Amino acid sequence: MVAPIVRFAPSPTGLLHVGNIRAALFNWLFAKRHGGTFILRLDDTDRTRSKPEFEAAIERDLEWLGLTWERKEKQSDRLVHYDSARDRLIASGRLYPCYETPQELEFRRKRLLAQGRPPVYDRAALKLTDAERARLEGEGRRPHWRFKLTPEEVRWDDLVRGAQHIDEASQSDPVLVRADGTYLYSFTSVVDDIAFAITHVIRGEDHVTNSGAQIQMFQALDAAVPTFAHLPLLVDATGGGLSKRTGSAAVADLRERGIEALAVCALLARLGTADPVEPVASLDALVATIDFARVGRAAARFSEEELAQLNARTLHILPYEAVRARLAGDPGEAFWLAVRGNLATLDDAVGWADVVRGPIEPMIEDAAFLAEAAAKLPLEPWDETTWKAFTSTLTSTLGRKGRALFHPLRLALTARETGPEMARLLPLIGRAKAEARLRGQPA
Ligand code: GLU
Repeated sequence: MVAPIVRFAPSPTGLLHVGNIRAALFNWLFAKRHGGTFILRLDDTDRTRSKPEFEAAIERDLEWLGLTWERKEKQSDRLVHYDSARDRLIASGRLYPCYETPQELEFRRKRLLAQGRPPVYDRAALKLTDAERARLEGEGRRPHWRFKLTPEEVRWDDLVRGAQHIDEASQSDPVLVRADGTYLYSFTSVVDDIAFAITHVIRGEDHVTNSGAQIQMFQALDAAVPTFAHLPLLVDATGGGLSKRTGSAAVADLRERGIEALAVCALLARLGTADPVEPVASLDALVATIDFARVGRAAARFSEEELAQLNARTLHILPYEAVRARLAGDPGEAFWLAVRGNLATLDDAVGWADVVRGPIEPMIEDAAFLAEAAAKLPLEPWDETTWKAFTSTLTSTLGRKGRALFHPLRLALTARETGPEMARLLPLIGRAKAEARLRGQPA
């Protein structure tokens, strides 16, 4: 395959939620898999709703996820390109001025519906004479501009959905330029996709209906039509949509709740595909498996619970190097290997570092036994075999076994009911602290 050029094109009008991140992730993985280029394009032509703080949040979220871009573009910087594409379409007769007010359009729409006819724009503006246009302009009306669709069946082979067709004869000519001169996304997107030589448009299923008109725009601008891949939408546990405006499942929330970026990516890469959801230790592990043919057509259900479980499973396999920078005080690989299997979030490791480092207040269940145990602690050096040797001695000399043996020891040594394997924790705690704790002293 020729190296693909793809883009993730969020509007900075809200926070990214897992649904848009899925589109970003598939774009990124696809680019990486085939040695291509991933472009971040900010669709910020809606000047009132686009906000710099959302732009910053989008970049921060993508960086956190590891979905870094080779190139960044902002539509607000590219207005001259839209102006010249607009002029080309006007010159070729594909873009025409319309003067209807929203009220007039609404009235016509209702009338058509009342007659049981589809509410398709009637192209009345195409029939205006020069004199009529001059009169409307004289009244102070400013035109909006519609793209003249060719009434034909538009077909494309969608990488996810297979063969698609949309009958453009049954669609209204889309407005590409508003009366105030600003552009609509569907147009600016095509102009940019052409300018950046985008080879694959990978986006959410909510854009399928735009694709027919957009394909005709590519053709009207004499450009090659990219390949499309429309990903099914994600729904929440109740079957409802995930909206970026309400912030439901916003990426920033997940980050603040201690969810690993890798867990988010591993879940989103596999959700609704033929492959099982599995933890991965790096994004590279996902690159090799990305395949649009394995993405199902049904909406995929995103569950916070599944993410929390995958988060824990991810931590359980991460090597020390992957988390070292985020663990205060560099507690060491032995510590990490001891505790990672018990973590739900990385923050939990802080609690275990406190247990290892101390001081903690030991919990004493059977003081007499613990005092005897303290006296029988082996001499250092200690390693992972020490615990076994220690507890075997306690069994053979004191006749203790099972819960009566292990539970008081764990409570005294860690002040917690459950936790990582004592064989790994004990050498980290060390003899001096272990002895004090067994004797009921804070250490
Ligand atoms: N700005 C559009 C969106 O956020 C981009 C859609 C596309 O990828 O073409 O939905």
